[in-house]
Amino acid sequence: MGVAFDDLNMAEAVERAAALAEEKRAAYVVTPNPEIVSASWKNPALAEALRDADLVVPDGVGVVYAARILGTPLKERVPGIDLATGLFERFSGEGKRVFLLGAKPGVAEKAAETLQKTWPGLVLCGTHDGYFQEDGPVLEAVNAAAPDLLLVCLGFPKQELWMRRNRDKLHVGLMMGLGGVLDVFAGNVQRAPERWQKLGLEWLYRLMKQPSRIGRMAKLPLFLVKAVFRRLSGKN
Ligand code: UDP
Repeated sequence: MGVAFDDLNMAEAVERAAALAEEKRAAYVVTPNPEIVSASWKNPALAEALRDADLVVPDGVGVVYAARILGTPLKERVPGIDLATGLFERFSGEGKRVFLLGAKPGVAEKAAETLQKTWPGLVLCGTHDGYFQEDGPVLEAVNAAAPDLLLVCLGFPKQELWMRRNRDKLHVGLMMGLGGVLDVFAGNVQRAPERWQKLGLEWLYRLMKQPSRIGRMAKLPLFLVKAVFRRLSGKN
């Protein structure tokens, strides 16, 4: 449906991301859900940013369903937040540096405090909020901190376009576009309990907590219907 996903399970995705970070060429990871894939059909710049990404993991259960419907199944859902914590786990033993970019002022700092407590071996080397006008000062701050991992949490399509546009100017190991995860790390937004996650119902939990997301989520059934038609028409 226009986006090529890497068919990796969670452990393999962590391996791949860690290897990309070692290359130190500001490679970037995107974590599309059905909403992001759908948006890319009408936004060529977003489509290009997804195409150029070094690692593309299926963040939403809807992507996994659609892939199955299309006859090109993916191993499993790889939520961006779990990929990030998998990397923290691994990096904490290696003293790697992490920079948090995005969310409202104060949120990244709070997230950094929590992450530091959970993984004392990580070096939280900098934070910046996501409501800036110019890239220049942010690039300077990130480059001065020289992180191995830069979390770019500006919401889509802003974060994907930002990573694509700035990767050649950045001296970082790896970047990941992760939407609202800093709000979760900061404790401002609750993630679904594990049982809900295992049942593939994280989206429902999120909807119950933030009913204003209904308009955004209403696109999911349409996305799956499109996958069915695509399969039936033999286009895939
Ligand atoms: N955000 C930002 N800069 C902006 C717009 C949004 O830093 O110009 C942040 C916003 O504060 C939130 C995140 O981007 O922390 C987007 O969260 P959302 O839950 O919408 O993203 P999702 O996880 O659904 O992609």
